Amino acid sequence: MFDATSTKADILVIDDTPENLELLSQILKDKGYKVRSVTKPSTGLRGAKAAPPDLILLDVKMPEMNGYEVCQHLKADELTREIPVIFISALGDVLDKVKAFEVGGVDYITKPLQVEEVLARIKTHLTIRQLQQQLQTQNRHLQQEISERTAAEEKFAKAFRSSPNPIAIATLAENRFLDINRSFLEISGYSQAEIIQKSATNLNLWINPQVYDDSVKILLQNDSLHNQECQLRTKQGEIKTVLLSIELIELDGVACTLNLINDITERKRLEDEFISLVSHELRTPMNSIIGALDLLSTQQLGALTVQGQQIINIAINNTERLIRLVNDILDLERIKSGKISMQPSKCNAYELLIQAAQAMQAMAYTAQITLNVEPISVEIIVDSDRILQVLTNLLSNAIKFSEPGKSVCLRSQINSLYLQIEVQDRGRGIPPDKLQLIFERFQQVDASDSRSKGGTGLGLSISRSIIEQHKGRIWVESIFGQGSTFYIHLPLINK
Ligand code: ADP
Repeated sequence: MFDATSTKADILVIDDTPENLELLSQILKDKGYKVRSVTKPSTGLRGAKAAPPDLILLDVKMPEMNGYEVCQHLKADELTREIPVIFISALGDVLDKVKAFEVGGVDYITKPLQVEEVLARIKTHLTIRQLQQQLQTQNRHLQQEISERTAAEEKFAKAFRSSPNPIAIATLAENRFLDINRSFLEISGYSQAEIIQKSATNLNLWINPQVYDDSVKILLQNDSLHNQECQLRTKQGEIKTVLLSIELIELDGVACTLNLINDITERKRLEDEFISLVSHELRTPMNSIIGALDLLSTQQLGALTVQGQQIINIAINNTERLIRLVNDILDLERIKSGKISMQPSKCNAYELLIQAAQAMQAMAYTAQITLNVEPISVEIIVDSDRILQVLTNLLSNAIKFSEPGKSVCLRSQINSLYLQIEVQDRGRGIPPDKLQLIFERFQQVDASDSRSKGGTGLGLSISRSIIEQHKGRIWVESIFGQGSTFYIHLPLINK
C-alpha cells in the first residue's frame, strides 16, 4: 500500500492533448509522484488493468472514447474498480457533473489547471483511498479473527460436552455453577436443573470446603492449579476421591473457574488395598530379620570382626527404616479407615506441649537447634498419645529442615473456639505449589528427602488424619527460603 503523505503514489493520466499531458505529468513528478501518461483511452485501460495505479486523472473529452465510458469500463472490472478517478475538463467544455459521479468518478478538476488545487484534490483522494484500504485490511483481519474464534469456541464446546472427565464452569466470586457437562452430572448424581445457578456450598458438594477454598487461593497466586486431591459428596451421599485442576477463564466479562475433575475413587481404593496387603505381608518377615540381626550383632552366635559388625549395623539401620515405613503405612491406613479409634481424655495443653518439646530435645541438641516452648494452660479433650505423635512429627520436621544455629518455636494460643498450636521454623521453607501436597501420602518437596533426612513421607499424612479425627484442622504457611509455620486447630471443650 502507498503512503499518501510520502508522495510515492502511482498516478495514471489519460488525456488526448499531449501538451496537457506533459504539463500535468511534470507538476506531479515534481511532487514526487510516479506518473504514467497515455493519450489513448484504450492504452490507458490496458495499463490500468496490467498494473492498477493508485489514482487516475481522466480527460472527459477524447475522440476515441469519452472519459465517462473509460470510467465505466474501469468500474466494471474488479481489478480497477476501487481506483479513484478524477475527471479533467477544459473550460468551455460542458462537464456533466452528475454523470461524472454517476459513472463512479470521485471528483473533477477544470482547465486551466490551478496547480495548488489539483495537488490538494489528488492528495485528498489518495488519503481517502489509503484509509479505505486500511479499513479493508482491518476488516479482513477482524473477519479472520472472528472465524478463528468461532472455530475455537466450537472446539471447546465439543470437548466440554463430550469429555469423559467431569467439567464445571463456576463464578469465581460465589462459586455458582454456570455450566456443567454430562460427566459432571454422572459423577455428582444431580440433574442439570438441580446444579445450575447453585453453589458448591448450596449442594454441600465438598467434604472439606476449606480444601477447595485454599485451592482457589493457590489458583489466584499461580494462575492455575493441577491435580489437587479432594473429596466430593454425591447427591446420594457417596464419597468420591477426585483430582481437581482449575483454570481461570472469563465468561461474558465475569471471572470464572473452569474445574476439571479426574475421578480416582477406584484407583485409590485399589491402591490402599494393595499397600495395606503388602505391608501386612512384609511385617512378619521383617520382624524376623531384625530379630536375627539382633542376635548376630549382640554376638550371641559368635564373635564378629569389626567389619562384620559395621555391616550388621548398616543392615539393622535399613531394616529399622523399612519397619518404620511399614508401621507408618499401617498406622495411616487404620487411622483413616477408623480402625484405630481415638481415645480422648481430658488433658492440659500446657503439659502436652512441654512433653513434646522434651521428647525432641535430644534431636534438637544434636542438630544444634534451639527449641523454644511457649505453652498456655487450657483443658482439652484429645487422645494425648496421638496429639503428641503429631507434635513430635512436626517438631522433628522443623529440626530436620533447619540449618544448625537456627531456632524452632512451639507455641499455643486460644483462637475463638479453637486451641491454636504453632510449630515455627526458620528453615528452608516450602514452595507454594507444595503447601497442600506434602500432606498427601509419600509426598515430599524433594524426592531425596526420605533418603537424606531419614523420613518416610507419611508423617504429615498421619498427622492430618489424626487431627481430622479430632475434628480439627492442620495446615502450613511458608515463605520459601525463610521458614515455615505449621498450624493446628483443635476444638476447645464447650463449657
Ligand atoms: P517425612 O518423613 O519425609 O518428613 P512428612 O510427611 O513428615 O514426611 O513430610 C513430607 C515432606 O514435607 C518432607 O519430606 C519435606 O519435604 C516437607 N516438609 C515437612 N515439614 C517441613 C518443614 N518444616 N520445612 C520444610 N519442609 C518440610
